[in-house]
Parts: sequence; structure tokens; C-alpha cells
Amino acid sequence: MPSSAPAPRGRYAPSPTGEIHLGNAATALFAWLSVRAAGGALVLRMEDLDRPRVRSGAAERILADLAWLGLDWDEGPDRGGPHAPYEQSRRRAEYEAAFERLRAAGRVYPCFCSRRDVAASASAPQDPADEVRYPGTCRHLDPEEAERRLAAGRPGAFRFRVDEGDDPPFDDLVLGRLRLGTPGDFVVRRADGTPAYQLAVVVDDAAMGITEAVRGSDLLSSTPRQILLYRALGLSPPVFGHVPLLLGPDGVRLSKRHAGTSLAEMRDAGLAPERVVGWIARLAGLRPDDRPIAARDLVAGFSLRTLSASPSAVRIAEPNSF
Ligand code: GLU
Repeated sequence: MPSSAPAPRGRYAPSPTGEIHLGNAATALFAWLSVRAAGGALVLRMEDLDRPRVRSGAAERILADLAWLGLDWDEGPDRGGPHAPYEQSRRRAEYEAAFERLRAAGRVYPCFCSRRDVAASASAPQDPADEVRYPGTCRHLDPEEAERRLAAGRPGAFRFRVDEGDDPPFDDLVLGRLRLGTPGDFVVRRADGTPAYQLAVVVDDAAMGITEAVRGSDLLSSTPRQILLYRALGLSPPVFGHVPLLLGPDGVRLSKRHAGTSLAEMRDAGLAPERVVGWIARLAGLRPDDRPIAARDLVAGFSLRTLSASPSAVRIAEPNSF
């Protein structure tokens, strides 16, 4: 590494909603390899704001699975560090403060639409995320009327106002220069008062000094939204790298619905971590074959640019078919 380049600070930010599976493991491996190859530090952050989806014990199991895979981190819930706490559920005051700044600056407005209302507006143009783009119904609500509804106890989410033409380009470490189009107004605080992912992740990445955010390409469409939030809060964004997703035999992104693909199942089936790493390395095009290899032996010369940009398809019949 040239001595002039500051060492990157990367992060891996799992949601403790279940077991870590091969797809999550691949993302974690790439985030780890990228910072380790550049002599940087990795932060492990638990994204546990979605309380109904959080599973008891899942956070501990994720840390154990990642360590089993051969990864390590410099700061995290189990190690502490200068930016503790590393669990989002314990950082709500920070999100609230950022939200209040956005509100004071007139960047957010209350929205009383239900999911169903938004879905019903399907005739509205699709946004780049292929989600139904929020049609802006509540953007034009008289502010006094909105205040009256909130005061009367009607639950309201808050959306960030995105102006036409707000489509920031960015240089993705894997995919190159991208410009995805103007996103719709998006939720930064849910109707139950929970900070939304988009706001929490920006507040945390900035507070934790993250310079490199590597994550699955399912989150690609979040990036322009997050860049707009950085700007609105006067913060500088990290560089982003969106790594390929692994797909199951059905062509659908790997998830806990695919039996036999969790690290715990693989470990219990007697697979060595080097086997799993070797397999991910081949799927991602890092190596021509899937011979076992330790994660640390992939560090030298690793670059996110070498990852193929298209999703890899994984065919798994049985755990022991690896
Ligand atoms: N917590 C998110 C997830 O598990 C990742 C967020 C991010 O990397 O920006 O999908």
C-alpha cells in the first residue's frame, strides 16, 4: 500500500434476524478482504433496530460464525472500541438528534400513507429500486393539518424530501461509476418512532469514521438516498462497494429459506471453513477452482474490482454437496 493512502475503515453490518448464510458470509468476507488487503480496520456493527425481526441469540451466533470462517474485526459489540456502542438499538439518541436536524431544516415531512396506499399508486413511475416510487401524496399536505393529525395521535412516518434531479452519481468500488436516477421521497423515521435503516446507517457510518462501505448489491438503490442524507446532514459519505449476491438453485437470492446454506448447518455437517471460503472464492471469480483456502490466504492482492459484477448462481442440493 502506498504510504500516502490513509488506511480504510470498513464495516460489516449484519442484522441479527437469523442465521448467517453463505450469501452473508460472502459479503462479510469481501468487506474483510478489502480492508485487510489495504491494511485497514474493520468495524462490526449489529443492525438490530427492527425489534420484531431480531432473534434472540442471533447476534452472538453471527459473531461466532464469522470468527469460525476466519474473519476478525477491530471494533464491535464483543470488543468495544472508540465508537461504542456497536449495536444500533443502543444508539437511538444519535438517530433522533440527526432526525431533529433534518426536521428543523425542513427536509422531512410527516406521511400518513399506509403501505397499501403506496402500493395502490402503482401507476406511478417505478423508481430505480423497482419499488413503487412514493407518489408524494403527503408532501403537499397542509403543514398545519399534518401537525393536527400528529397531535391527535395519528401515527405518521417521516419522509425525506427528494427534489427532482437529486440523483447523485457515485463511483462504486465493484461496479464503477453509477447514476441510478432520482429516488422517491423515502422514510427516515417509521410511524412507530423507530429510525429507518437509511438514516441509522448514515448516522453510524459517519460517526464511526467509515471510509468504505461494502455490502450486497441488494442495497444498491439505497446508496443515492444515503448520499442525499449525508449532504443534508453536512457529512461526507464513504466510498461504496456493492458485491454480487449469491443465488440459490431457484435463482432467488440466498436466504435462510434455502436449507443447508447457513454457516451453522455447514459447520454441523463437518465442513471446514476453508472449504466454504474456497467455494465462495470460486463463485465470485477470485479463483478458478474451489479448492479449500483460508480467508487470510486470499488477502494479498485482493481488490473488489476483481469481483464479477453479475450475480453468481449457486446450486445446492444438500449441504454435503460442497
Ligand atoms: N444491515 C443490513 C443487512 O443486513 C446491511 C446494511 C448495510 O450494509 O448498509 O442487510
